[in-house]
Amino acid sequence: MVVAIGAHVDQTDPVAEATARGASLVQFFLGDPQSYKGPVVTYADGAAALKARAEEQGVDLYVHAPYIINVATTNNRIRIPSRKLLQQHMDTAAEVGAKGLIVHGGHVNKDDDPAKGFDNWRKAIEATDIKVPLLIENTAGGDNAMARYLDRIAGVWEAISTAEGAENVGFCLDTCHAHAGGNPLETVVEDVRKITGRIDLVHCNDSRDEFDSGADRHANFGAGRIDPDLLAGVVRDAGAPVICETPGGAAEHASDFAWLRDRL
Ligand SMILES: [Zn+2]
Repeated sequence: MVVAIGAHVDQTDPVAEATARGASLVQFFLGDPQSYKGPVVTYADGAAALKARAEEQGVDLYVHAPYIINVATTNNRIRIPSRKLLQQHMDTAAEVGAKGLIVHGGHVNKDDDPAKGFDNWRKAIEATDIKVPLLIENTAGGDNAMARYLDRIAGVWEAISTAEGAENVGFCLDTCHAHAGGNPLETVVEDVRKITGRIDLVHCNDSRDEFDSGADRHANFGAGRIDPDLLAGVVRDAGAPVICETPGGAAEHASDFAWLRDRL
């Protein structure tokens, strides 16, 4: 089975990073993933040149939004800056010609009604000018998370389905997060698809932790706790492009790609 496989890389020269790995797609951050500072493009010739270079080389670029974005929260002092940061990343992702912008599902506070989070997601989609597909990613943990368990993902999807722009919202399925988040990998692709109708991207990662541990620690393939056949099965079933967010650089990634291709 032919699946496009790439990796999360440094943004300074993502096309060179793709070439170094023999990959046709890469993902990167536009700056510090833990910061509210806006996006930064460090490619020497700027965003438009990066877009042109990637097109010329046939490399698909994906941008991962900062982890701190939480558009679901009931806390205004986090939700409002999160929406702003999401739009800024959306704008820059479009400038570099990204095929998608990945953002975590976020969470509401411990005692909050999750329905408030679902509605905040709807408002965020309505407020955002979605220029490239916005891919909501499942998370491993988080108190009262929006995209850990299936019932919450269903709540988010139902809420955003009525929002303008919802057709440009997709799903990024992370295998480490699904496993550590307590979703059986045997059925997760089918389970998610029943809710979202689509899986646009797979983050393929092994996990250093047990099933349903709630921990988010990625591992290289075969070095973690996920059954190799299940990991490959998710990639096969999803039939979507794959980004490995596994430890190491080009050499480790190339060996992860080979490990995965052997099992597809
Ligand atoms: Zn991920």
